[in-house]
Order: sequence, then structure tokens, then C-alpha cells
Amino acid sequence: MIVDRQGRRFRNLRISLTSACNYACTYCVPDGKRLVAAQDELSAEAMARGVEYLIEAAGIERLRITGGEPLVSPKLERFMTAVGQMGLEDISLTTNGQLLAKKLPLLVDAGIRRINVSLDTLDPVAFKSIARGGDLTTVLGGMEQARAAGMKIKVNMVPLRGQNLDQVMPLLEYCLDRGYELRFIELMRMGHLARDSNAFLQQFVSLQQLLSLIGDQYEYLQANAPVDATAVRYEIPGQGHFGVIANESVPFCRTCSRLRLSSTGWLHGCLSSSNRHFVGDLLDKPRHQALPALQRLLMKALGDKQEVAFSGGATIMKIIGG
Ligand code: SAM
Repeated sequence: MIVDRQGRRFRNLRISLTSACNYACTYCVPDGKRLVAAQDELSAEAMARGVEYLIEAAGIERLRITGGEPLVSPKLERFMTAVGQMGLEDISLTTNGQLLAKKLPLLVDAGIRRINVSLDTLDPVAFKSIARGGDLTTVLGGMEQARAAGMKIKVNMVPLRGQNLDQVMPLLEYCLDRGYELRFIELMRMGHLARDSNAFLQQFVSLQQLLSLIGDQYEYLQANAPVDATAVRYEIPGQGHFGVIANESVPFCRTCSRLRLSSTGWLHGCLSSSNRHFVGDLLDKPRHQALPALQRLLMKALGDKQEVAFSGGATIMKIIGG
């Protein structure tokens, strides 16, 4: 097993199935242009082999499928069928929910029981101006159907000053009423936000600001979370939980166990590092040739992790997934 000086190792793999997305969120894609799938994206079979090899070479236990938007990818079904047979502890998916209702039978059949749905507002006008794609009613309907199918749902919201801060409480109440767990994600200095500190600071909302808003209306207590969790989790007694992924306020690099594989075959050991390691060519090789080379690259990827805190990165989430 590859372990670093801080005792960190890779346990959680995030696969960006495609860089294509049916949204163009303001904080992710500043020019508003829809990203299509890269021409050199790996096949479903090569990506599934990537998961298989990484389980063996790095000790991956949990997989999250993300993007881009994973539900737009034609590879989804073949990929899910293959990874469903690998004995992973947990497979989950992050989606914007636009195609959730349509793809639900496929997700249920593939054994997905947990999904994260990204939703920054319940206001249809603000929704259009932040997501720049999709339709709010469709997302809410998809979540309702997923809940009825027995899925556990977390909702990801990126609070942005001047855009959706008025939605923190409505979204929290909406989630508490339905048994969804709301996860606020502090805005991350990625892509254009890593280069433009002013744009970042103008929009950034901190953990403390969120807690102060929520505390005006609810009593909350800090709740338990796994050691390598990225979110600080809170309980509102008798009503439910919420969490904050507080990259800036409570950095979690010291216990980070995440590894990312892009749709074009690059391994990323850290979102805050511009280093990446190409493994696409190894995935066509037989196991005995691929694994030793993969292990060397995994050592490098683990070495890319920040010691303490996320300091910003040139990569955009749309390419590598959240
Ligand atoms: N399309 C899927 C979705 O919408 O959930 C998966 C990919 S999306 C890039 C994953 C998550 O990253 C979303 O919840 C999105 O809000 C978040 N995200 C993207 N850019 C971010 C940034 N700069 N800071 C914080 N979160 C970001």
C-alpha cells in the first residue's frame, strides 16, 4: 500500500466520466461556453479497467462517479455495469439532476443507493443565471423520484455572495423537510477563481457566515463524521443534518484520501496541484505490466497533496469533477 509521511493513502476514487456538461455554472465556466466531451476521452471499458487496477494498486475502497455531468455520457451504462461487479464498498454519483428521472432505473439497477445533487438555488430566475442550463422543476422532480426509489440524497450548494445567499435558509428547510442532507461547499479557488482573487473574495461565503445565518433560526450541534470526511457535519436536533465542506475555513488536506481520474486518463492526487499523471496508455496493458508503472505514478500523485490547506489550482471542476 502506498502511504505518505502523514499516514495518508488513497481510499476514495473520483472518476470524471466525461468533461461534457449540460450546465455552464458561473463559478465553474466563466465564459459560459458548454464543454463537450474531449475527443481523446477514454472508453467505458478503459475507465472501468482503471478502477479495477486502482483498487489493486492503491487500495481504493469507494468510488464516486462525477464529471462534467456523468448522466450525459453515453458511457454511463457500460461503465456502471462493469464497476458494479468489482466488490467496492460504496459507489455513489454526483449529478446536476437534470437527467436524474430518466436515468434512475439504470442507476438503481447498477446498485447506486446514494447520490449528491448539485443545486444552488430554489429560485427559477437565479437558477437560470447561475447554472446557465437546465430547468429547476426537472431537477426537483428527479430528486423526488430518486427519494421514492429509496436513494439517500445529499444536496450540494455553493453559496455565493450576491447570487444565492438568500437561498441558504429556503434550501436548508427544503432539504430538512424531505430528509435530504444539505452540503454547503465553500467556493474553491479553482480555474479563473485561482487567478482572480477579487472575483473569489467578492463571492466567497465562509463557514462562520453560514453558521451565523443558520444559527439565527435553528439550534445546531456538531455531529460525528468519518476521519477522512471533507465536510464538517452538524445536527439540528429532531430535524436532520447539514454539512459544510469548508476548504478555506477548516482545511482537510491532512486527512485527504481522494484520488481523481479524468475522462482523458490523467490521475490527479490533489485539486490544489497543477501536477497530473497520464495513465491512459497503461489501461490497455495487461495487469502485470500496468500495475508496477501505475504504482510509481501513484507515489507521485500522493506526493502532490498539500500538507495543510488547499491553496488554489488551475484545474477547473468541470474537467476533474468535484
Ligand atoms: N455535473 C455534476 C454536478 O453538477 O454535480 C458533477 C460535476 S460538478 C463540477 C461537482 C461539484 O463541484 C458541484 O457541486 C459544483 O457545484 C462544484 N463546484 C464546481 N466548481 C466549484 C468551485 N470553484 N468551488 C466550489 N465548488 C465547485
